[in-house]
Amino acid sequence: MTALKDKIRTRIASDGPLTVAQYMSICLADPDAGYYATKEPFGQEGDFITAPEVSQMFGELIGAALLSAHDALGSPDSFQLVEIGPGRGTLMSDLLRMAALRPAFLKAARLNLIETSPRLRKIQGKTLARSPLTPDFRDTFNDVPDGPVLLVANEFFDALPIHQFVRTGEGWLERQVGLDGKDELAFGLGATRLPDADVPASCSKAAPGTILETQPMANAIAEEIGNRIARFGGAAILIDYGYLKTAPGDTLQALYKHKYDYALAHPGEADLTAHVNFEALGAAASRGGASVLSTMTQAEFLLQSGLLQRAGALGAGKSHKEQEAIRDAVERLAAPDQMGDLFKVLAVTQTGLSFAPFDTAP
Ligand code: SAH
Repeated sequence: MTALKDKIRTRIASDGPLTVAQYMSICLADPDAGYYATKEPFGQEGDFITAPEVSQMFGELIGAALLSAHDALGSPDSFQLVEIGPGRGTLMSDLLRMAALRPAFLKAARLNLIETSPRLRKIQGKTLARSPLTPDFRDTFNDVPDGPVLLVANEFFDALPIHQFVRTGEGWLERQVGLDGKDELAFGLGATRLPDADVPASCSKAAPGTILETQPMANAIAEEIGNRIARFGGAAILIDYGYLKTAPGDTLQALYKHKYDYALAHPGEADLTAHVNFEALGAAASRGGASVLSTMTQAEFLLQSGLLQRAGALGAGKSHKEQEAIRDAVERLAAPDQMGDLFKVLAVTQTGLSFAPFDTAP
């Protein structure tokens, strides 16, 4: 029994069932017992390892891509460098080391870290203590000052609450978290119906019991990013695990001590995520006024950015053991059965702007 499970059961008993989105949001963000408030999720000791924690090469190659976006923008002498959900600050630290090769980039950049967790802000500040830029912490993307923007977000959108709908004889009804006869958390159906206009054509003939997910929070932020880019210019690189085309399926996923877990088993103690619908994310950015430049797999992005060359340079003159570790990292980041295929990289730009490696269609 987790402390949060008790709290959630009490709340359901008095106020009724929660939507899946409400459940996710409480599990991740409850200020006392939520996952991000209490856990150290990243790294060997935590529940999962993100790409920047696998190898410095990941942040460096994102840095190289943002340098080429800065060039394509005509090297503006002031812009907002933004990361949403920076975790331990590792990606930004590696990105800035790469950016140091281009003094004009560093001189023009104002660093904004969008982070809700006070605990993680502290860690990010420490990681970046010796980096060339001092971060301004912001609560939301809206708080970033005006100006052209170069933005990155890795494994941020997967942590935003999703809604789930179940196909029934009466249309798509919202899936809820309630209590069963034994007072245990259990999935059930609510009365809220997904409007017909929101049912994708590919799902119109789905069998009863099929689950369809919507991600209004992720889409709202993507639209804001698109809007900002349309107004002030710039580009965004959004990386997450997810799928390229809208399709039905239950992707709500709990990870507890490196193992998959039942989503209702350890609220607040397991990481809870959902796969990102990149078709919807790109459409939202376009609604905001920006253009989708490209959506690639992580493997395509990294290999076209020069992952193998970077690995070779990094390993040159190192011990056999260190070279082995670099090879392992390359596998982990780019092999199709590891992170290479499941993770996608969406590049959003002001209309007409193109930059490497997204300018060469895979
Ligand atoms: N990008 C990092 C961490 C990914 S985990 C990495 O790749 O290692 C998700 C991150 O998003 C954490 O830093 C978490 O605290 C932050 N986060 C979650 N919800 C958020 C929100 N609504 N606004 C800003 N940051 C959020």
